[in-house]
Amino acid sequence: MNIPFFDLKRQYEKNKSRLDNSIGKVLNKQFFILGDELARFEKDYSEYLGVKYSIGVNSGTDGLILALKSLGIGPGDEVIMPTYTFVATALAASWIGAKPVFVDSDPDTFNISITDVESKITNKTKAIIPVHIGGAPCDMVPILDLAKKHKVKVVEDACQAHGSSYKDVKMGNFSDLSVFSFYPSKNLGAYGDAGMVCTNNEKYFNNLTMLRNYGQIKKYHHLEEGINSRLDEIQAAILREKLKDLDDGNNRRNQIAETYKRKLVSKYKFQEIISGALSNYYLLIILVEERERLIKYLANSGIGTLIHYPVPLHLQPVYKYLDHNKGDFPVAEKICNQCLSLPMYPELSDDEVGYVVDKLLSFK
Ligand SMILES: *Cc1c(COP(=O)(O)O)cnc(C)c1O
Repeated sequence: MNIPFFDLKRQYEKNKSRLDNSIGKVLNKQFFILGDELARFEKDYSEYLGVKYSIGVNSGTDGLILALKSLGIGPGDEVIMPTYTFVATALAASWIGAKPVFVDSDPDTFNISITDVESKITNKTKAIIPVHIGGAPCDMVPILDLAKKHKVKVVEDACQAHGSSYKDVKMGNFSDLSVFSFYPSKNLGAYGDAGMVCTNNEKYFNNLTMLRNYGQIKKYHHLEEGINSRLDEIQAAILREKLKDLDDGNNRRNQIAETYKRKLVSKYKFQEIISGALSNYYLLIILVEERERLIKYLANSGIGTLIHYPVPLHLQPVYKYLDHNKGDFPVAEKICNQCLSLPMYPELSDDEVGYVVDKLLSFK
């Protein structure tokens, strides 16, 4: 068998005519920026999440940058975030001149360590960015309590968490602002770059609507130093069509995760989902000490895997100026040294999942 880590072609082939039509519709209109398709997708996405406002932007990275900017964060400010995340979380803070302040991870959920967050709050802290790693919801209640107590904002990096929920409330609802990425491989993926910022706050909504569009309040009248970061009509049309399949895809991912866990939990350590939460299983992450050997063993059996992520942000060359050392965040470092993502997408057949399970069981 040959089971790639990810296979977007299967998804496209299943829905080819619907997706081709959605693109064709835009081409026939010849209207490409800030039109009906985006307005409709923003409305549909807001309804799907249960938030008041969604603002389409160019990417998840842009969404994080603009979200922090709309909170008035800039030079001299500190933003708390996990060191075990994708680099874009930190880039958003440092790109606008703020300081990323890293914290360690929880050894079971691999998400931000709440006790470590509290120890890092100073009078310069302006925001906390919990990241729902792999789609697994962070424990938002204590994070929101801390934020309230210290009067800091919370921005959810929900770039991997489309459709994940806690007690039936979708992630993206819990904080001042939340950010989603529609990078092609995400559970809801565009055919290019795209992202979304969501909020229940009208003031942030109005500000972000300006910021993404040259800071203009109306054509050729500019109130703020905005940027060009818009989700284009072709991507919006594709995403609106794909949104209809998101829940089915997430349900299938949950089925697959259940199989992996049931068969393998006695041999491998899995990322844990907090009680009351539902993951969208963007990633299925296990920890293995002999990772390199397992990767080779699986590759020889035709099974693709990936490492999310091999290097924590405090050890990345780009953040050398923050003066961190190996050993500063032992849990995150261990996760980065041992984590392995297994094939996880709705189009995997039961036979394929069974094959991956068998190979993982026979690994010695
Ligand atoms: C994908 C991702 C981003 C960045 O999104 P882009 O759309 O690729 O810019 C940010 N944070 C996390 C956790 C992500 O997984």
